Amino acid sequence: MSKKIISAFLLALLVLALAVSGCGQQTSQAPKTIKIGTEATFPPFEFQDDKTKEYVGFDIDLVKAIAKQMGCEAEIVSMGFDGLVPALEAQQIDVIAAGMSITPERAEKVAFSDPYYKSGLSIVVKNSDTTIKSFKDLEGKRLAVQIGTTGAEEAKKIASATVREFNSSSDAYMELVSGGADAVVNDHPVNQYYLVQGGSKESKLVGDILNSEDYGLAINKKNTELSQKINAALAEIKKNGEYDKIYQKWFGAKVQ
Ligand code: GLN
Repeated sequence: MSKKIISAFLLALLVLALAVSGCGQQTSQAPKTIKIGTEATFPPFEFQDDKTKEYVGFDIDLVKAIAKQMGCEAEIVSMGFDGLVPALEAQQIDVIAAGMSITPERAEKVAFSDPYYKSGLSIVVKNSDTTIKSFKDLEGKRLAVQIGTTGAEEAKKIASATVREFNSSSDAYMELVSGGADAVVNDHPVNQYYLVQGGSKESKLVGDILNSEDYGLAINKKNTELSQKINAALAEIKKNGEYDKIYQKWFGAKVQ
């Protein structure tokens, strides 16, 4: 083989390697799209803007910033929370961004990015309730939770409680307001947001925050390269102030 052919071959290999290594190597090509799966009834992390119908929220801004850092576009698709891990395993989506807590059970199925938000669970009850003041008081009560969540898992551990699982957090709050449940167990920042956005007319937070849970983005275990790139991009936006900007936009405070 002549030297020319060999170098042409090597060049072709290089181009191919760049092409499959993800985004960031754009020339005239359109940017590569990463498909992000979410469950868009979880404000302030992910929800649909009433007017524009666009998906918005902390997670949405975060994945968009990560994608931009990687030279990609983020395409957001919303589905049931309990459908996200199966969709990732079936490679219908590339990444889950859904306020998903990093748990050992999930980590058997998916690869988690470095943690990006510290969360925990709390309880919402009706303003008129005087019987529930902590997780201990949930024994024997009727609990509304979102299906497939850590809140649902925790509620199921409570002795003689009746747990009803809903497709979305908003359905769980609705059940509380309509009197079908005594309490909602859900992620604390989502409970807080619900109350601030008008829920406090009927409901209130009680007790301490249970569990410290870290949110992580989930990536298909086979896609180690994407995991590495996402972690690198996350580290970069934490360093360059972009993460702080997004945090302040949604939580109005500095990162604790
Ligand atoms: N953080 C909780 C979990 O991972 C709830 C997430 C959600 O409902 N979007 O189960």
